[in-house]
Amino acid sequence: MSLGEALAWARGRVDRLDARLLLQQASGCTHVDLLTRPETGLPAPALAQFMDWVARRAMGEPVAYLLGEAEFRGRLFQVSPAVLVPRPETELLVELALARLAWQPAGARLVDLGTGSGIVAISLALEIPASIVSAVDLSPAALAVARNNAGRLGAAVTFYQGDWYAPLAGQRFALIVSNPPYIAAHDPHLQGDGLRFEPHMALTDAADGLACIRQIVAGAAAHLEPGGWLLFEHGYDQGEASRNLLQAAGFKDVFTQPDLAGTDRVSGGQL
Ligand code: GLN
Repeated sequence: MSLGEALAWARGRVDRLDARLLLQQASGCTHVDLLTRPETGLPAPALAQFMDWVARRAMGEPVAYLLGEAEFRGRLFQVSPAVLVPRPETELLVELALARLAWQPAGARLVDLGTGSGIVAISLALEIPASIVSAVDLSPAALAVARNNAGRLGAAVTFYQGDWYAPLAGQRFALIVSNPPYIAAHDPHLQGDGLRFEPHMALTDAADGLACIRQIVAGAAAHLEPGGWLLFEHGYDQGEASRNLLQAAGFKDVFTQPDLAGTDRVSGGQL
């Protein structure tokens, strides 16, 4: 089978872009190769790999897990089923963090709670090189992915294994960021396309969706410097509850910011 025939076979089974990315990865060909030399033969092992990936993609497996990588803010991150697939809306969390770090002196300390593949911590470490970045995750498998990403991208991040603030005893930060699990246990979205392949502990708190956010807000005062900021991602319907939690914990300038789709996505406040 040729490259062109393989793509034609995948049409109707999976999304065109997914088919192209999977074929490039399986064959080692570039997009230009596919366009200019579609008659090139595909070796049997590459064809078998491609057909297996297309079948799995058609069953809902995220393309990022099949490729083993995903892009976030223009950088390529390694991903595995031990971590969430990076989502574009999480860029808002990074952008709001960057805006608050802009006026901080060099050496500002920040921490990413529940770092997963490390996209937030690593993006911040690379975009504000003068900052001192730490990241925490409960999952050793996720931390292995995050460490590998930091190494490959040349980001200086100190990683800790543990439950939210547990490994950070005695440490204070100018900024705490988090993309915690915030989908409620009963939310049918969890069974939807893609999500059922992702780590459950990264998506849901197995409760009302706010359990981890409550813990993160409650522990923040003991780990923020005076004037420090807490920013976290949350679900489309959790803006008001998040602001209430922040206000009750004594935060000032409490806000919720919608993502590019116009959905409430990140809330935060200053202590
Ligand atoms: N934004 C993801 C979703 O709703 C959830 C990510 C998370 O729980 N942190 O698909």
